[in-house]
Amino acid sequence: MAGRTIGYGVAAVVVFVAVLFILVGGIYLCSASAPGVDVGSRATFAIGLLVVGIILMVVGVVIIWVIRTRGPAPIQQITQQVDIDLDMPGDVSVDKLKCQSCGGELSKDHVSLVQGAVMINCPYCGSTYQLTEEPKW
Ligand SMILES: [Zn+2]
Repeated sequence: MAGRTIGYGVAAVVVFVAVLFILVGGIYLCSASAPGVDVGSRATFAIGLLVVGIILMVVGVVIIWVIRTRGPAPIQQITQQVDIDLDMPGDVSVDKLKCQSCGGELSKDHVSLVQGAVMINCPYCGSTYQLTEEPKW
């Protein structure tokens, strides 16, 4: 989740810089025809700025696109998120979970994720069921 936020931040900065480049390039291009100015070099400079700006813009858009279209996160990452979520104050701790069938105490080792659903594998009675409480992440 943090990585995604950082990604959006980077994309925002890249797009911001791209807009600056395009604006400055546009100003230079407009002033390229001003009298007493070496039109050729100024226009070249302006076009250079515009090209860099457009490339940065594309990079920013690609970063956002990659973040948005990225497939489901790897299991490891989801597990990490669950750990963080369950460690949050006020939330149900995995360590205090009890089996719905036999009341045996369950630890993190007995919780697994199957296609996004939190599954409980009780080591005492051997029952396997889905945790009804939706994890918030
Ligand atoms: Zn049990």
